[in-house]
Amino acid sequence: MLTPHNSQLTTHNSLPETEIAARFPDLHPALDARAAVVEANRCLNCFDAPCMSACPTHIDVPRFIKKIASGNVTGSARTILDANVLGASCARVCPVDVLCEGSCVMHGKHEQPIEIGRLQRFAMETFYDAGGKLALRRREERKQRVACIGAGPASLACAAELRQLGFQVKVIDRRALPGGLNTYGVAEYKLRVGDSLREVRMIQDLGVEFEVGEVDAEGLTELERDFDAVFLGVGLGAMHRLAHDGSASESVVDALEFIAGYKTGQRTSIGPHAKARRVVVIGAGNTAIDAACAAKRLGAGEVTILYRRQREHMSAFDFEYEHALREGVVFCWATLPKAFAAKGDAIELQCIAMTQDETGQPVPVPGSEFTIECDVVIPAIGQSPLLELLSQVRGVAMEHGRVVIQRTTGQTTNPKYFAGGDCVNGGREVVDAVSDGKRAAHGIAEWLGWRTEAQVG
Ligand code: SF4
Repeated sequence: MLTPHNSQLTTHNSLPETEIAARFPDLHPALDARAAVVEANRCLNCFDAPCMSACPTHIDVPRFIKKIASGNVTGSARTILDANVLGASCARVCPVDVLCEGSCVMHGKHEQPIEIGRLQRFAMETFYDAGGKLALRRREERKQRVACIGAGPASLACAAELRQLGFQVKVIDRRALPGGLNTYGVAEYKLRVGDSLREVRMIQDLGVEFEVGEVDAEGLTELERDFDAVFLGVGLGAMHRLAHDGSASESVVDALEFIAGYKTGQRTSIGPHAKARRVVVIGAGNTAIDAACAAKRLGAGEVTILYRRQREHMSAFDFEYEHALREGVVFCWATLPKAFAAKGDAIELQCIAMTQDETGQPVPVPGSEFTIECDVVIPAIGQSPLLELLSQVRGVAMEHGRVVIQRTTGQTTNPKYFAGGDCVNGGREVVDAVSDGKRAAHGIAEWLGWRTEAQVG
């Protein structure tokens, strides 16, 4: 069944805003207008700019920077939004060091790369603060209806693009607030809930309908009947659980649940006045780092990341690792938690040291068992695909837990369904999901017999 009720675009964060602001100040404070113009004037406005090719949504970086330099900040924001409707959140969460800024020609001149992320943020926030709105690209309304399942970045990008082309679009998500990981899964010091919802509100103002509801097999049949195409932007499912007994313990909370909890005002047992002073995070991806740093900022005394391999194998970006070190997070490499047990109010983690076999695979070192005592365990060991829902979509092929699509259109093996984002790519950056959503929007528009944006003029 599709069980609808109204989507809320307000937050219900019970932590006082002043406390949130104090505990989670911006990682990279915003540029003021003067600093933005000075930085924009450093840009060489390269022809065939490598920063533009490095952006999955191909934002025209030299163009938007040039507009900042000339004082046309609204025009700059519109250049960004033309390519990436989530330009504000991407400015905050993109790993710019390995994307646009990582490819800036300034590296070759042994100079600091242009601060593209901060300039983008300046343009987008100035635009929003002045009440800027997205515009429909054509006035003519189209009768065809598209449903987007999931309200994360891929669906939002798909919905906004289709709506701007005149289609009727509904976004359906099981969670109370839209925005997906932008709202629930990114650490507060990178992206606040309110900032994520502000972008959603802009898409809602375009005329995209939002609905909260669970979609099951019956709901899929209803959507197929009532809509001309369906976009699957469902992301990934729950985080993998630890194999050991005790993972249901109240003191074990997966990283995404933990981040969503403190961001949306649920009570957390981590804090200076709470008992949970010692936190162990298991895993070494970017979500593990977000969770560990958040635990520190919430007041945990000791935060340790356990990883079964060595630093060079961790999937977190180097800049995230450096950031965690600065926050005071301790890394314990080549350590595998084998079991945990309650010890009074605390948890005793039984661990073993790891080494590598001749093929490079991690293997335990015999006799190297030891224990770590802590108050809270946060597993961050990857998410599973949403197989329960996806397996109910008739005719949509899956491979290794991912939806199979045509690379140029996002169309699945059931022509009425298109897909993008984490359920296709297995979990990448927000900007990759935006790129997927846009591509699918154009695929859907063409499949429904309409010419694409470039053709409609
Ligand atoms: Fe400007 Fe660097 Fe991009 Fe060249 S590569 S256009 S200098 S930001």
